[in-house]
This record gives sequence, structure tokens and C-alpha cells, in this order.
Amino acid sequence: MLNKINTFEPSSSSPSKALFGLLPTELNALMEEFGHKGYRARQIEEALYNKRVTVIDAITVLPGGLREALMEAGYEVGLPEIVQAARSVDGTERYLMRLADGETVETVWMPDGDGGERGDGSEASLEEEAADGLEGNASEFNLEPKQQPRRDLRNIGALEQNGYRRATICISSQVGCAVNCQFCLTAKLGIKRNLTGGEIAGQVAAVLNRHGVKIGKDRINLVFMGMGEPFLNYDEFVRSVELLVKQIGIPESRMTVSTSGIEPAIRRFAQEPLRPKLALSLNASNDEIREQVMPITRKWKIAELLEAVKTIPLGKREWVTFEYVLLGGVNDQPEHAREVLELLKSMRAKVNLIVWNPGPGIPYTQPKPKDVAIFQKMLIEAGMPAYIRRPRGRDIYAACGQLKRTVEVPAAGSLIEIAPAATPLG
Ligand code: SAH
Ligand code: SF4
Repeated sequence: MLNKINTFEPSSSSPSKALFGLLPTELNALMEEFGHKGYRARQIEEALYNKRVTVIDAITVLPGGLREALMEAGYEVGLPEIVQAARSVDGTERYLMRLADGETVETVWMPDGDGGERGDGSEASLEEEAADGLEGNASEFNLEPKQQPRRDLRNIGALEQNGYRRATICISSQVGCAVNCQFCLTAKLGIKRNLTGGEIAGQVAAVLNRHGVKIGKDRINLVFMGMGEPFLNYDEFVRSVELLVKQIGIPESRMTVSTSGIEPAIRRFAQEPLRPKLALSLNASNDEIREQVMPITRKWKIAELLEAVKTIPLGKREWVTFEYVLLGGVNDQPEHAREVLELLKSMRAKVNLIVWNPGPGIPYTQPKPKDVAIFQKMLIEAGMPAYIRRPRGRDIYAACGQLKRTVEVPAAGSLIEIAPAATPLG
């Protein structure tokens, strides 16, 4: 089935020999090749994924000869490098990440405060709040200030020290995108190549390093909502999830993957043992409008996509999120809200309404605030959870659909750095 969609997929991937991205069995094989025992593989694993080193020489537990041999053979850690960063007034940071072959992608960091600012505004935060209650963490925040136990600063993560409770990292899965949604800036790039699983997970490691995040102490959410269509780079997407969950230590329940709707890949995703939450970019209330705004609808109709989504086994607290970009006068009227309700009525669904973020040369207009409010109200009154997603980092072109390589974005005033910011932790 999946080979049907391979026509979209570029074949080339990064030419470098990156250690970051190798799974434990692959590291074992590599050490065997270099004439070393399995424990060396575990040392490399620890250095790559727990210490998050950025250069081989920082893996000081390895004998110098082995480090040199690896480097001579062309190996490197291979983490994407932050070459440019822009910070928004709302705390969001957008990074330009350089990959080994010089291609670049964008990654976004969105810290969330205590007071209801919620990352991408997706369901992850709400479900986490419920989970917080179960874990007993929330009670700490409910205590009167006097009763609060004194904090041992050594035991809190970097986020809390900076006044945040959690952060969401938005990662890219491809250089550019082939899907050609008419409202999306990334589409204008076309597709250059797929990212490797190591490059996808490596964006996370690079951002964690930049912010000194301690996994286990800091609460990190991930959204696969950056550049590219993750389900058109399916195997590497799955590899990145495995790396992020098993090696980096971020549970899949805190990850959401967003797809424009690649039907065979959704069915395959339903069978995955490690499954992030799914968000489907519905973006229209019928096939006619969807075909105009997302030409990929010619290949898979809304009904087919919904049937595929229904094959996903949902956990007790799990919902499928439907993203709906509101385009002024195109899909934002009461009749559209009624159609959306009709489409989703038999599903455990929630809707994230996204006010369209404008971009140069894209021929849409933003919806009127009144229409957005009416749309949301109609869904909620019919019993459908519906949230308006707060745009983050719009001033630095970091919001949804605004990711396009920084160099082409006329926001020079807000670029704060042109240098790698991460410090090797090894
Ligand atoms: N390719 C995947 C994931 C990346 S796009 C997908 O399409 O789902 C992430 C989300 O941003 C999608 O829901 C998409 O519909 C939305 N989006 C794209 N361009 C946008 C724009 N200009 N304004 C608001 N949302 C946009
Ligand atoms: Fe690609 Fe998603 Fe943009 Fe569509 S919305 S062009 S699938 S990145």
C-alpha cells in the first residue's frame, strides 16, 4: 500500500556518517566493526543520548585511539547545529538548524508559563493537567505559598528556574514539503529531501542542549508540526520516535504528530507499538473546499481519511485532534461549522481552530474575529471540544505554516544570534 505514496518521496538523505541516530543494536554492530566490545557501544549511547555530546572527542570514556579511528572513518556526532535564532516577544524561539550536508530546517521552542499559556495550545497540555493530578504533582501548586516546601534548586530543571512549567518543541521532518497546501508558506519551498530519524530527533537534542533541559525534571512536549509532512517520510519519522522515547526519554504520550492526511500511512501508524497522538489537518468541511486549499484531497477524500483515523486504537484519555485552519470567507462560516460537526460526530474528536497566519504571496485573508468566535461556539454548543490555537511567535515567523528558511524572511530586526549557541555538555 505504502509504495503508492512513494512517488512523493525524495530519495536522498544526509550523506554524513552520523552517530546520533544509531539505535543500540546498530552501535553494537559498529563497535564490532571497529574491533571493540559491546560495552563501548553502551558508552557511546550514554554520551549521545543522555549527555547529548556534540563532538566525538567529548566522549572521553572511549580510548583516544577509538575516537580517532571513528573520526578518520568519517564519523561525527552529527547533531543539527543551531546557526541562527530569533526570539519572539512571547518567549518563542525559532532556530535555523544546519544539517551535515548544509541543508537547513527550522525548529521552534515554545516555553509555557503557569498562567495558561500553552505551547501550541494543543490537547497535550490539557491531558497533562489531568495526568498531573494523577501523578500528584498538581497538589504542590495548590498549596498556599507559606505551606510550599522550600525548593532545593539543585533538584529543579532549567525550565522551572526560568519561571516556566513546560515547553513544547516543534520539529521538522523534511527539508521543505511536497504537499502543496495553498495556505502554507513551507509549501513554497517544494521538497528538497527527507530528514533522517537522527536529524529529526537531533533537532530536539540541540534545543535541549541550548536550554540546559534536564529530561526527567523538565517537562517537554513535542509536536511534529514544523516543515514537512512526517507521513511522507514515514520510516524515519518512526525511527525518530523510537530514539526520542527510548533513548532521549520523552514519552510518546507527550508527542503529537500532525499529518495532512496520507491515508495508507495513517493505517500503518494505527499499528505502531510506539504511537504519538495524532492530529489530522482537516482544514475544510467538505471535499470541494479541501481540494481547493489542499490539492492532495484529490488523492484521498475526507471520508477515506476519517475511516483510516478510526482504525487507531485510542487510550482512555485519548482523542484525535483535527486541525482546522480558518481562512477568511473560505471555510469559516456557520455552514462549514455544521458540516464539520456532521463529519466528526461519531468520533472521539476535538478541534483545534487555527487562525490562518499570513505569509508573503499567499492569496488568503484572515478570518474575522467574530466568525472565529461563532465557529468555535457552534462546535462547543454541539458538544465538540474546540480550542482556538493561540499563534505563537508570529512576529518572528515561527507560527504554524510560517516556517520557511529564515534567510528568506524579512525579519532581520528580530534575529538575535548568528552563531551556534549550544555548548557541548560532554
Ligand atoms: N505537514 C503537516 C505538519 C506541519 S503543518 C500537516 O500539514 O499537518 C502544521 C499545521 O500548520 C497544519 O495543521 C497546517 O494545516 C497548519 N498550517 C499550515 N500553514 C498555516 C498557516 N499559514 N496558518 C496557520 N496554520 C497553518
Ligand atoms: Fe506541507 Fe503541512 Fe504545509 Fe501542507 S500544511 S504544505 S503538508 S507542511
